[in-house]
Amino acid sequence: MTGRKRRRAPPAEPAYRPGQLLDWTDSSHWDHSGPRPCRYCGFPTQLRDSHRAPAHKTCAEDALAIQAAEAQAAYRLKGTT
Ligand SMILES: [Zn+2]
Repeated sequence: MTGRKRRRAPPAEPAYRPGQLLDWTDSSHWDHSGPRPCRYCGFPTQLRDSHRAPAHKTCAEDALAIQAAEAQAAYRLKGTT
């Protein structure tokens, strides 16, 4: 026995699981005035994002994931130059 332990990298976790990034169970995300076109996909929704803009929760989560990936890529680029 050498006493050395081989360490394994932890299992890769996905950045987020679809549908679990945002918690929109609060009633402030529901607009009773009626459906309006989603700011991302254009289909009608009664959900509102944190800025009160019409948005599906899944569309908002996808947009956040894209923003995070872009920020991460920009950070990596910035770090190598
Ligand atoms: Zn949408």
